[in-house]
Amino acid sequence: MNIRDSLAEARHLLASESERRLEAEVLLCHSLGVSRAWLYANPEQEVTGRHHDDFLQLIQRRRQGEPIAYLTGIREFWSLRLKVTPDVLIPRPETELLVETALARIPFDASWRIADLGTGSGAIALAIARERPCCKVYATDISAAALSIAQENVTSLNLGNIRLLQGSWLSPLQGKFNCIVSNPPYVSSDDPHMNEGDIRFEPASALTPGADAMACIRHIAEESLPRLEEGGLLAFEHGCEQGEVSRQLLLQLGYADVETIRDLAGLERVTTGKMP
Ligand code: GLN
Repeated sequence: MNIRDSLAEARHLLASESERRLEAEVLLCHSLGVSRAWLYANPEQEVTGRHHDDFLQLIQRRRQGEPIAYLTGIREFWSLRLKVTPDVLIPRPETELLVETALARIPFDASWRIADLGTGSGAIALAIARERPCCKVYATDISAAALSIAQENVTSLNLGNIRLLQGSWLSPLQGKFNCIVSNPPYVSSDDPHMNEGDIRFEPASALTPGADAMACIRHIAEESLPRLEEGGLLAFEHGCEQGEVSRQLLLQLGYADVETIRDLAGLERVTTGKMP
């Protein structure tokens, strides 16, 4: 079977109408170890036995719902090619807003101490470390399995200004920070969204704190206050309905300059506050 026929067959098998062509292409590229440009340039190239078997196996796994990023083991975030496995949350485009928000407030030549709490694949920490080479970024995660993926990403991106530590939120870290960022779990365990699509395959501990969706955000906001330098920044991601409650929380705790930023879909997504 050639590439054109393999793609046609896979498109027929994959469920989601709008994405099936792209998904088929990405999975065939992965099976063959080639780029999408190469596929387009070589539609008549034969797909040999083993490659074809690998491809069909990926298609079957996709049909069972496994996320594309776990099938290929790769996800792009902030133009960084990151390794991902089911031990880490798949970095989302919305989370780039958190990176953007932090970067807008960190001067380019600042030599700040920055903490990323619950780093997972290391996506946020790596993006900030890459964009702010004079800053030192400390990234923590309670999951040893997640940290080993983050370590592989740190090594492959060859960034020297990032350190990974195992432990809950700020607990493995000493001293104060100029900026603390986090994309903590914030989906309620009762949310029907937890039983849909890609999320079913992601680590529950990265998605949900339990029935109280604000539990981790509250913990982080409280724990961060005494660990921020004067004027230091806290910025975290939250659900689109958690903007108001996040602002109230920060104001009650005594944070200043509290504001919420909307994502590209116009939804409240990131809230920030400063240590007065
Ligand atoms: N935004 C993710 C989702 O709803 C959740 C990520 C998180 O809990 N930090 O799928």
